[in-house]
Amino acid sequence: MKLSLVVPCYNEQDNVPLFYEAVKKDFAGAGFDYEIVFVNDGSRDGTLESLKALLAGDIPVKIVNFSRNFGKESAMYAGLKESTGDYVTVIDADLQQLPSIALEMVKMLDDEPEYDCVAAYQESRREKSSMVFFKNAFYKIVNKFTDVEFVPGASDFRTFRRNMVDAVLEMKEYSRFSKGIFSWVGFNTKYVPYVVQERASGSSKWTFGKLFSYAFDGIISFTTSPLRIPAYAGTVTTLVSLVYLLVSAVLRLGFHHPFTLQNVTVFLLLLLGGLIMMSIGITGEYLSKIYMQTKERPIYIVKEIFTNKKEG
Ligand code: UDP
Ligand code: MG
Repeated sequence: MKLSLVVPCYNEQDNVPLFYEAVKKDFAGAGFDYEIVFVNDGSRDGTLESLKALLAGDIPVKIVNFSRNFGKESAMYAGLKESTGDYVTVIDADLQQLPSIALEMVKMLDDEPEYDCVAAYQESRREKSSMVFFKNAFYKIVNKFTDVEFVPGASDFRTFRRNMVDAVLEMKEYSRFSKGIFSWVGFNTKYVPYVVQERASGSSKWTFGKLFSYAFDGIISFTTSPLRIPAYAGTVTTLVSLVYLLVSAVLRLGFHHPFTLQNVTVFLLLLLGGLIMMSIGITGEYLSKIYMQTKERPIYIVKEIFTNKKEG
């Protein structure tokens, strides 16, 4: 049995050696083979030098050096692709996620064959209350409007079996939102609580703005329902225009109310507005189909096949 640790690194020069030492210490008596796949995501500090220094050590290390910063999502994809283990753990370089927990995740998968993935989630967050509020709102929106389910506080810190890694790699979409992808591919995930450690050194790359656009991307990647809004709004507006026409006619015929130019203008405005929005909505329906098709996601993912046929 072999484990691959996939480690995205962006400006982590001081954390890389600490991470390596922590792995070496925690995995000393692990009783299985392991490798570390570092992805240097266009770091601007001495991360690459720190990583290269590790090549002299005893642990099998692979360094994937990006030509520029592509973001953690791309780094994870590259790391998974380069990994060769039967189990793969995605873990940060900053020691906020302890390697010793990765070891426990592997044990869980060994003991519980019904699970294909063990994911860590944060039970309580050490964050500002405004941040916690936005994150909770995000999970509510995603779970209501998309066809994937996110467990609040779940992180990318996960250990997969190879079959699930291969399924994730089949998802070749350009704009990646891993939490959604991990859910979309199916399989059984066990969620275990963990407490995030303080960063060993350096600072987090997330700002509120970045997080917001990432969350927005996440929603857009897994639902096309916003494209339906014009269709709904257009239908309502068209109906309103017809009701308006009806009321004007009743007033004219029953109560000798004059039918003014203003009535005609309001009616036509509502009707045309409604029809235009409905047309945009129809275009949106086609657009959503094209959008989903361009992702070229697998049509299905097989977990296993059972047969009583003899091979050959
Ligand atoms: N990271 C990366 N590319 C980026 C940003 C971050 O590979 O563009 C790595 C980073 O080096 C770390 C992990 O992704 O190993 C998580 O990043 P960070 O600690 O900034 O996020 P946080 O822990 O605050 O969620
Ligand atoms: Mg971190």
